[in-house]
Amino acid sequence: MCYSKCLIMRTVDLIQRKRDGEELAPEEIAFLVDGYTAGDIPDYQMSAFLMAVYFAGMTDREVGPLTECMLRSGGTVDMTGVPGVKVDKHSTGGVGDKTSFIVAPLAAAAGVVVPMMSGRALGHTGGTLDKLESIPGFRTNLTAEEFTRQLAEHGLAFIGQTDELAPADRKLYALRDVTATVESVPLISSSIMSKKLAEGIDALILDVKVGSGAFMKKQVDARRLAQTMVAIGRRMDKKVRALITDMNQPLGYAVGNALEIMEASQTLQNAGPEDLTKLSIELAAHMIQLGKKAATVEEARRIAESHLVDGSAYRKFKAVVQAQGGNPQALDKFELLPNATGMREIVSPRGGYVSIIDAHLIGMASNMIGAGRDKKEDAIDPAVGIILEVKVGEKVDAGSILCRLYYTREDNVEEAAELVEDAFRISAQKPDERSLILEVVGV
Ligand code: URA
Repeated sequence: MCYSKCLIMRTVDLIQRKRDGEELAPEEIAFLVDGYTAGDIPDYQMSAFLMAVYFAGMTDREVGPLTECMLRSGGTVDMTGVPGVKVDKHSTGGVGDKTSFIVAPLAAAAGVVVPMMSGRALGHTGGTLDKLESIPGFRTNLTAEEFTRQLAEHGLAFIGQTDELAPADRKLYALRDVTATVESVPLISSSIMSKKLAEGIDALILDVKVGSGAFMKKQVDARRLAQTMVAIGRRMDKKVRALITDMNQPLGYAVGNALEIMEASQTLQNAGPEDLTKLSIELAAHMIQLGKKAATVEEARRIAESHLVDGSAYRKFKAVVQAQGGNPQALDKFELLPNATGMREIVSPRGGYVSIIDAHLIGMASNMIGAGRDKKEDAIDPAVGIILEVKVGEKVDAGSILCRLYYTREDNVEEAAELVEDAFRISAQKPDERSLILEVVGV
């Protein structure tokens, strides 16, 4: 629906109707999104509207048109020159989540084309682009031409969101970030899906995180988020499937940019942590099946495992690192990656079982010593972060090392250490085992 046809509408009336829980029509949503992107609707009115959506929500009949407006606020990547089924993967954000560096090469090694458009660290969660840029020389700002050429050649390319793709989301996300309106199912769904659809994909696998380290704290909300994104995909004729996965403790042991690249590299050499390997294989299997390289997820799982074991996914990742200007040797020789200069151990105050490692607190502590950013303009320190020595369910003695903080500057280390101490709970009872993969939603 065209913005110019709707000039008789008044923004204040639409804010009021959403505040009162009414469903808006597609042309009314278009009026708001187009008007805000064009600069005709001011930040203060859009902020009020976003807060109204945060509290009143949106129906599926509203979320679809909202996503479409955001999508057509910019262009889409022309994939006509790239043969093959294009499948991307997106995580809703977590702590220690480095699956992209394992999943994407696994799927690409199986012949799936993976255009991976990723984001930066924000809040307590890490960002794929920041992690990749800790590899010396790695460029994430590929031109559209370089992106499609690399996809045709290697079947995998990592890129950031460009100005041309879903500019409405870029503007809205920046506003949501400073108006406490990020954690909303319709707003997260439309934000993610508008960017993913602009990439020219055929299918998408979503890793919807739930738990202390995720935007969604409850499984019921994560399910709603997954269902909403799957429904948007269906409406746009794309195959979208979501795994709902646990984010109550960090994934793997490493949290922090270069530290996560090191752990991903070990995992690609089949020597990584069990949880990270398991989730990566599962996500890659769904991509391989959605990419029509296997008839069933079981067959796709076997294919993914074989590419892990025979080293072809690791070789694929190294080739992609080289193609994007990075030094592939840094994946074998970790001294070529940024390394921290200081280290502080956190020990267990008592013996017992590790029953909680609060991922949110670990993410905040890692950011506090420089691994993340509070504002978009902040620089990150690629070398710093946290390495866990234990996972939930393990037995520890008094004085056992729970984790190590790696830092380059002394400031904030004390506060970060206190946060980390609070993140661990040691109990007399062994906690019940929790599943890592909780549900599959969609096609
Ligand atoms: N990631 C996004 O791209 N958008 C959101 O709104 C939240 C996470």
